[in-house]
Amino acid sequence: MKLISDYHVHSAFSGDSETPMEEMIKKGISIGLQRICFTDHIDYDYPTQYLDYGCVFEFEVENYFKEISLLRKKYEGQIKILAGIELGMKPDLANRLEKLVSAFPFDFVIASSHLLDNYDPYYPDYWDSIHNNTEYGIRRYFQSIRENVEAFQNFDVYGHLDYIVRYAPDKNFVYDPACFQEEVDALLKAIIQAGKGIEVNTAGLKYGLPFAHPKEEILKRFFALGGTYFTVGSDAHKPEHLAYDFSKEAERLEALQISSYYRIFENRKPMIP
Ligand SMILES: [Zn+2]
Ligand SMILES: [Zn+2]
Repeated sequence: MKLISDYHVHSAFSGDSETPMEEMIKKGISIGLQRICFTDHIDYDYPTQYLDYGCVFEFEVENYFKEISLLRKKYEGQIKILAGIELGMKPDLANRLEKLVSAFPFDFVIASSHLLDNYDPYYPDYWDSIHNNTEYGIRRYFQSIRENVEAFQNFDVYGHLDYIVRYAPDKNFVYDPACFQEEVDALLKAIIQAGKGIEVNTAGLKYGLPFAHPKEEILKRFFALGGTYFTVGSDAHKPEHLAYDFSKEAERLEALQISSYYRIFENRKPMIP
């Protein structure tokens, strides 16, 4: 399989990226990408204890579409530019997210867990609140994904399913998905029941993890349980991370014998590339 489309890309519309959309597009063209799908962050109700760190993950969606439409014209014929979004999930946001998603002509919607139980596990206060119990923290993360999927289903893929392992405080902890089989199965079944897919996110590799998210046991399990598709994204916040490790990832996906489930999106519809 060939991976020449990146379906998880951030730009300066995201609170944690300073890269103008146009720079990402130019980079995409220079590395031969066929498609680039911007998926900037909307995380409503971000917990106030993190505001001091500059965590504001909301933007004017009208301006986002204006910018994308200008750039589509400018780069027509060179690269296909798609308008996606990455929604930060919490069960109590379902109505607000539904309004947002139905108000704009998005091509692609990623649902992601950046918070759980009103903490951001990127910061130590989450782990402090659970006495630095790494195994419990990860288990609770998987449970919360299922709760999110049960509350809200107007998305196309669930993003980076096990990215919390990056932030585990116990550096000796060896992450084995089998340890969380019950919770993982429950969340995968919820996604399958909703008729949705999961994302292969190569950012894990960039952070020095030896695997993309989710780990291959979870990917294989998703299709064994009846899952129907996955997408691939780099989660780049800087141009140099666009399509990160895509050629190696394509080989890995082929070795797992799941490449026939690979999809790209347009107008919220999955397509065989
Ligand atoms: Zn994310
Ligand atoms: Zn992202």
